[in-house]
Amino acid sequence: MIEVTLICHNCGSKFRVKVFEPDEAEKKGAPKSPIRCPECGGTDVRR
Ligand SMILES: [Zn+2]
Repeated sequence: MIEVTLICHNCGSKFRVKVFEPDEAEKKGAPKSPIRCPECGGTDVRR
């Protein structure tokens, strides 16, 4: 797991979230579910 800071492009809030690294998620077969903004629930978040 890695912790990244993301910015929501819907409401502009910054938040930190823990995500699987791409290769790690592949090995474990983890679903790549979209990250949601905790403030507005939007999925348009970028690093
Ligand atoms: Zn938001």
